[in-house]
Order: sequence, then C-alpha cells, then structure tokens
Amino acid sequence: MVLVVLALDAADIRHAEEFSCDNILLDNHTKMESVAHRLDHPHTGEAWPSIATGLHPTEHGVTGHGSWDSAALTGLSRVAHKLNISGSIRSAVGDLIKSSTDQEWTLLTVDDPTFLDGEYRAVHNWPGVYRNEALQYIWRLFAQAKDDEISKETFIREAYTEAASKFGWIHEAMSKDVEIAATHIHILDVLGHLYPEDRESYREVYEDVDERVGEVRDTLGEDDELLILSDHGMEVSWVEEDDDYGTHSWRAIASTTLDSPPEHALDVKSWVENNIQAVDTKRTATDLPEEQLRELGYIE
Ligand SMILES: [Zn+2]
Repeated sequence: MVLVVLALDAADIRHAEEFSCDNILLDNHTKMESVAHRLDHPHTGEAWPSIATGLHPTEHGVTGHGSWDSAALTGLSRVAHKLNISGSIRSAVGDLIKSSTDQEWTLLTVDDPTFLDGEYRAVHNWPGVYRNEALQYIWRLFAQAKDDEISKETFIREAYTEAASKFGWIHEAMSKDVEIAATHIHILDVLGHLYPEDRESYREVYEDVDERVGEVRDTLGEDDELLILSDHGMEVSWVEEDDDYGTHSWRAIASTTLDSPPEHALDVKSWVENNIQAVDTKRTATDLPEEQLRELGYIE
C-alpha cells in the first residue's frame, strides 16, 4: 500500500467546490483548520512544517522568516516581516537587502520528527522540511516577475512546468515499494497571487490541477490511498466575505480516498501514521566503487 500525499499549496476548499474539482475533493473532504503565527493568516513557510510535524510554528520554530547569512540581516528581515508589508512572501525590505548585498535568503528546515521521515517514505520537496530549493526557485520568480526581469508568460510557463515535474515524480514514486509518496505543488498559490481578480484564469488553473490529480487518482493501485492537503486558500475579489484579495484565506482543505480526512493541520501527522503500512522489503546493501567515487569528488 502506498499513501500518496499531495501538498497542494493554497488549494481553497471553497474554490475547489465552486469549480467542481471532483478530483481535488476526492471521496471525502473537509475544511482543514490551519495554523498561523507570524502573520494573521497562514503562511506557506510555517504551515507546511506544522503539517509535517504536528507542532505549532512556535514549537518547531520555522516561521517562514528564513535566515540570512548574517545576524544583522536576519534582524532587518524580521523587522520587515513585523510590518506585514502586503503579506507578500518577500517583503520590500527583503528585496532591498537582496539586491544590495547579494545575500541569499534561505528557508529553514525543522529538526523535529515528521511523518516524512524514513527510508521508505519518498518525498520530493516539502517546505520547511525537505529540499526547499523548489519553493525558493518559485519565490525568486515572484521577485523577478515583480521587477520585470521576466515576463508574465515566462512566470506562468515556469509555474506550470515546475508543477508538472512534481506530478511526474509522483507517478514514478507511487509505482515503487514505498509507504508514502509525497510532494508539494505550488502552482495554485503562485498563479492564485496572479489572478485574485480574474475568476476565469483562476478557474483554468484549478481545472488543470484537477485533471493532473485525476491522473494520479486513476493510477492508484488497489490498496493505494490518496491524501490531499493545503496550508491555506486564497482570498479573491468575487467572494463577498474576502476583503483583502490576494492574501491567504483560512479555507485550507484536506481530502482523501479514505473515510475521514484530518480536520486540523496539527492532526495530519498522527492521521498519516495511523493510515500507512510498513513495507516489507528485502534490504540489499549498495556495493559502490568507493575509490572511484572519491576521486570524482562524489563522496568524501
Ligand atoms: Zn502556501
């Protein structure tokens, strides 16, 4: 049995229902309560590590600040975040620091145990937990698009191809002997920030993602199960109760092919642990040509 976990960043339960995304909604779905610490609404950089660890951001300590190379810059960045500049991922002050110092901003990863730990739990990017570089790549695109260094068309293309690479990875991983195949897909967040006033374009992104999820759903083996999670949704101009469109809504989703999806972000870890099966593998040692690899600099 493989539990396939799709971390669909910014998948908003209201919009999935509005656009009849039956694949995203799966057999059972619920609005999942998310967490927020740094801002008054959930943020990608702190919610995903909470989902993976079952710990509040104040407990796991990754609050989406990231870290800079020097303590002084970290301090400056925190001041910027306190100002809550438009709730955007990278604050204006952050951009200023980056362009004037060439310092790279790095999202931290948690030290606490997560449900993604373990040799037979395959994971391909999970913000704040494992290989943040894909998320940071997209965040860099935001900055480049904002500064007109890349076109809107390039931004959209990269958002789609990056998402496609994750779906492709999932298809391969779920065909292997693993307990979990999990990945984080950022496209609904990326393009959600582009289209909070453009219902038609926003709907198209949902329909595309729903189709990709449908392909994963169709590929599930007899014993395999699917869990879809989000960290938050997106406030949009056509929903009356949304007064600040383009910011993250509290309408996160949990949906599954199993009976009862987790209702709180901090319940996901125990939910997953209760619903997976250990794989029964024959463990074989890898016999690598050590001297050659050392010569090539692959190992130390
Ligand atoms: Zn997010």
